[in-house]
Amino acid sequence: MAKIKMTTPLVEMDGDEMTRIIWQWIKDILILPYVDLKTEYYDLGLEYRNETNDQVTIDSANATKKYGVAVKCATITPNAARMTEYTLKEMWKSPNGTIRAILDGTVFRTPIIVKGITPYIPTWTKPITIARHAYGDVYKNSELKAPANSKAELVLTDENGNETRQAIHNFGASGGIIQGVHNVDASIESFARSSFNYALDQKKDLWFASKDTISKIYDHRFKDIWAEIYENEYKEKFEEAGIEYFYTLIDDAVARVIRSEGGYIWACKNYDGDVMSDMVATAYGSLAMMTSVLVSPDGNYEYEAAHGTVQRHYYKHLKGEETSTNSVATIFAWTGAFRKRGELDNLPDLIKYADALEAATIKTIEDGVMTGDLYLLSKLENKKKVNTREFLEEIAKRIVL
Ligand code: NAP
Ligand code: MG
Repeated sequence: MAKIKMTTPLVEMDGDEMTRIIWQWIKDILILPYVDLKTEYYDLGLEYRNETNDQVTIDSANATKKYGVAVKCATITPNAARMTEYTLKEMWKSPNGTIRAILDGTVFRTPIIVKGITPYIPTWTKPITIARHAYGDVYKNSELKAPANSKAELVLTDENGNETRQAIHNFGASGGIIQGVHNVDASIESFARSSFNYALDQKKDLWFASKDTISKIYDHRFKDIWAEIYENEYKEKFEEAGIEYFYTLIDDAVARVIRSEGGYIWACKNYDGDVMSDMVATAYGSLAMMTSVLVSPDGNYEYEAAHGTVQRHYYKHLKGEETSTNSVATIFAWTGAFRKRGELDNLPDLIKYADALEAATIKTIEDGVMTGDLYLLSKLENKKKVNTREFLEEIAKRIVL
């Protein structure tokens, strides 16, 4: 069989630990036999990040801007323990943070649903994709303790030095706490555009919510910016695609989400997204079944798994012990990237291959062949636990092109 041709390279970002092992095996077992793979390779493994003073991470993000599509392996975000383990020159920043800052993107996380694993909310038969605004609010706050009998005010100084003052609270005998938060229009606009673009890309309804009835300036600004961008830039495209933009209050959104069957994108303000993404991920079963894509407002895509480098499994692997690590989200990062490349370059065979690889992966699990994490969750009767490599080999047997 002739291998499937690619025209534009994918930006390939290699990573660390168990996911780095899986990365190579996915290529060897599931990709290279079928695809004449063209990538521009960046080694984001911690050793090489350290060697290049993290320049490789910046280069890989810039390459994503150039080519438009990247696929990323999970990477270590260094902490004190990693400083000694890898004798690092510096505590390098999270690669995901660096890449997101350069692409100015929003992260969308979607669970992969398979028969035999029922979400904790059984009506959720379709995936709920969560998008989290990744700038500002309480994550860039300024806080103070307020002593008894103190007075707190908001003070805004304009470029000419004019002050606007507004009372926050006059503390009495009991002191308390105060907090200053902000956001910027440009970031809210990017978040809105990334979300509208991704909804069109996925042909799914888009929900957004805030607390504009209580926060009449701050949260209301989010509502207004989204509404304006929708009206001016996306309304017609949404109508053509047969999808809907739906705005409501955050508490109403939560109630509707619980009653829903899923199948839409839920864009959340920063804090809502932090909380709700953990709730949604847990409800669908396993972090190892959660895909993640960073979408920039000007249409660049970086695909990855939502989980980390699975360190505990890696140390077992290094000792020569058998592991049963789930590669599904990493496989779907590759298929997401191939499908997007196929759409952009008009390569129907590449899209067909991405579909076939996803179908084979799901069929493997639904046939009862799965890794340990899913084995614990699956309600299938004839289930069988396989090791990391066997799972990939079982998928390969089921690829039908
Ligand atoms: P993790 O790698 O996601 O793993 C946490 C635990 O979740 C694992 O020990 C394992 O549980 C389970 N798990 C996660 N993915 C799995 C998979 N594919 N198959 C089977 N089980 C899986 O998180 P972490 O241990 O907190 O972080 C490890 C490293 O990853 C850290 O250095 C962190 O900085 C990095 N990280 C990177 C990213 C990223 O690149 N996007 C994201 C998060 C974390 P059991 O051990 O019980 O089997
Ligand atoms: Mg969280």
